[in-house]
Amino acid sequence: PAAISSSEPIIPTTLLTAQIRDALRAIVGEKGFIEDKHGKQPFVTDWRGLLVGGAGAVVRPASTEEVSQVVRLCHEHGVAIVPQGGNTGLMGGATPWPAHTGIVLSLGRMNRVIDVDPVGYAMTVEAGCVLQTLQETAAEHDRFLPLSLGAQGSCMIGGNLSTNAGGVQVLRYGNARNLVLGLEVVLANGDVWDGLRALKKDNTGYDLKHLFMGAEGTLGIITKAVLKLWPAPKDVCTSWLAVRDPRAALEILSEAHAASEDNVGSCELMSRSAIDMVLRHIPGTQDPLKANTPWYLLLEWSSARARQDGTEGMSEKMEQFLADQLEAGRVLDAAIAQTGNQSRNMWRIRESVAEAQRAEGPGLSFDVSVAISRIPEFIDKGIKAVLDILPSIRPYPLGHIGDGNLHFSFMGPKGMDQPTLTQYKGAITRAVNDLIASMGGSISAEHGIGMDKLDELSHYRSKTELDIMRTIKRALDPQNIMNPGKVLRL
Ligand code: FAD
Repeated sequence: PAAISSSEPIIPTTLLTAQIRDALRAIVGEKGFIEDKHGKQPFVTDWRGLLVGGAGAVVRPASTEEVSQVVRLCHEHGVAIVPQGGNTGLMGGATPWPAHTGIVLSLGRMNRVIDVDPVGYAMTVEAGCVLQTLQETAAEHDRFLPLSLGAQGSCMIGGNLSTNAGGVQVLRYGNARNLVLGLEVVLANGDVWDGLRALKKDNTGYDLKHLFMGAEGTLGIITKAVLKLWPAPKDVCTSWLAVRDPRAALEILSEAHAASEDNVGSCELMSRSAIDMVLRHIPGTQDPLKANTPWYLLLEWSSARARQDGTEGMSEKMEQFLADQLEAGRVLDAAIAQTGNQSRNMWRIRESVAEAQRAEGPGLSFDVSVAISRIPEFIDKGIKAVLDILPSIRPYPLGHIGDGNLHFSFMGPKGMDQPTLTQYKGAITRAVNDLIASMGGSISAEHGIGMDKLDELSHYRSKTELDIMRTIKRALDPQNIMNPGKVLRL
């Protein structure tokens, strides 16, 4: 793995003495304490295999009470803590810095569903529940948890909330923070904040839960959450469209809202190059359309109302809509999934892009957002700016275009190794992010800051914004033990 960054931030480096280790072991038991090098390895290496950090031990508490005792002990001794869920984050937020001598606190053993309330459309869960398990639990109660992303088989709800994850349903249901009614959080001094309320309305001062969501573990440890649920979709239609260009894709989406009677669930733009990369690396995926054009759209409509005999359902509405869009020249060719397998294949292509990129080799990826209508302009200008720096780099753009969010990805020129590509990273990052800033966009749409974008955040956010963030951080974590050197350098 590459060395992390030459400018590693200053973080607390209190060593775990034998006395602290014994005390930690006494709290979490042998099952919850890992200190051998081999056992720690998966917890100190990031999903991409790019970063490897340090840790005195990995601690795996099984309850809020144990988390609280562990944090209190760390607070007393000035030991730094890196909270970790499924370790699928893409910004190095859950990976300790190499200088880290404290603990990784893994929430994986806190994986109980505490309560499902189908009447109140709410579910109370522990932070270490795997997202897909929660989706399945909601479905068993004829309810829907609308957070969906490629890593859902291993990411955990505490990690999703701490990164304010997005995914493929934001268009309709909002980011992870919109799916939350209440939280329980262990603060940096070990105190437990019980905000585990299932209230839709609660205007009693500052809305504290929103401080912890998107904070990437720098302000406290989320231990439980009350999640909102929705009616389960009963009539779903998935289609795969070859489209004229990104502008046509936006026009299709804009027309789709009314045509579907406000039932657009997802709208994902993919480049031909990204699709081909998935087909090359992910066994079992099949090209849904033979058309060979540069741009495609995965469009899904879903309704909670089951299709009634003799009435128009989602697929009839979609068919009519696509015929109109073909006529208008925005859609060049289209396939509507006729079976669950066909729909799953379409989704598998979309959701396997990160995995395919990992298999393809060295690359650079920018998770950015702009106002929705400016996506085509950003794609054109952004690709040109990057090719001006490295003409043989290969663009693989795709994104959640209904959210104005692009995963603006590039694979290194054929044969170029990671260290050589890394030499261009600074210049390319500056070019992409300057363009984003000039268009009023965001340099991190849904993946967060972690350690990867530490310097980018301080470069692009105003002094006023950074001062507010630092004030909050210092108030809640004066010793800087909660995931130090992430989000803010301080
Ligand atoms: P981790 O990686 O373990 O942690 C992420 C951050 O949260 C770290 O800073 C960590 O310290 C902190 N943290 C974790 N748990 C807690 C807790 N309980 N309390 C406080 N802090 C905590 N993201 C999207 O938004 N949209 C996508 O479509 C998307 N697709 C992805 C596809 C793939 C294949 C992969 C690998 C990742 C994808 N991601 C996506 C990245 C996404 O952020 C993560 O997958 C997920 O939200 C993080 O959950 P996790 O449990 O793995 O968190």
